[in-house]
Amino acid sequence: MVATPIGNLRDITLRALDALKSADIIAAEDTRNTSHLLGHYGISARLVALHEHNERVAAPKIIAALQEGKTVALVSDAGTPGISDPGAILVQAVRAAGLPVIPLPGPNAAICALSAAGREDARFLFYGFLPAKAGARRKELEMLRELPYVLAFYEAPHRIVETVEDILKVFGGEREITFARELTKLFESIHTCKLADAPAWLAGDPNRQRGEFVLLVSGAAAAEEGISLEAQRILQLLLAELPLKLAVKLAAEISGEKKNALYDLALQLK
Ligand code: SAM
Repeated sequence: MVATPIGNLRDITLRALDALKSADIIAAEDTRNTSHLLGHYGISARLVALHEHNERVAAPKIIAALQEGKTVALVSDAGTPGISDPGAILVQAVRAAGLPVIPLPGPNAAICALSAAGREDARFLFYGFLPAKAGARRKELEMLRELPYVLAFYEAPHRIVETVEDILKVFGGEREITFARELTKLFESIHTCKLADAPAWLAGDPNRQRGEFVLLVSGAAAAEEGISLEAQRILQLLLAELPLKLAVKLAAEISGEKKNALYDLALQLK
């Protein structure tokens, strides 16, 4: 399992180059893409395709080659294979055949984003791609809403606007979001703002919606302090319509949360 760059072709390890040079076969998600990488490093190799549509069919052929004593390097289009990329089915099959699987660590977009985001909370949950369909996406987000961890999502440019709108709808405007875009590439940018400000920031310049994204969303901090997110949502809705004291009183009655805690939160929200 050979990790390859997520943009900048120089982000490749010496060990990855050795493995690619010495492999009898390189199994690649997209052989044209990998040819470009190999060409850059003057490596010629036998390439076979292994992608999400043929992984089950390709696995037995790769196992046969391994059983003949050949070495096979698996690469995906970018980053670490098997992470939001094909590879897991092959790994299972190879292990089941009693053959070793050796990971060669290297670039990963989520880790790259987290390292530069400056989040003090060291705990994070890697989610990857949310469902493409709006209904399923919102349902998934509802499940994630109360988790007190930074959430790391992957997203493609054509869905970035709708996904961010859904995250805002389900999580509320107070949490922070980091847009880590085009990491290691020419137009790399890393921007953090409140979720409430995120749609306006994206709309502010069409370039901000282009390229590849990692989204980091802060966790449910208030849930950790004991105020359920449902109570937070109620309080937020009431605060938008009513004076602070009345909003707190009603939110406490509706949610069953302590009035003092809600009062402190209301002051922060205001
Ligand atoms: N296996 C890869 C890894 O280890 O990160 C992830 C592959 S996944 C199919 C591709 C997604 O990763 C993109 O849609 C984007 O969300 C994220 N990604 C990959 N390269 C990126 C980059 N240079 N900058 C920001 N996000 C990137």
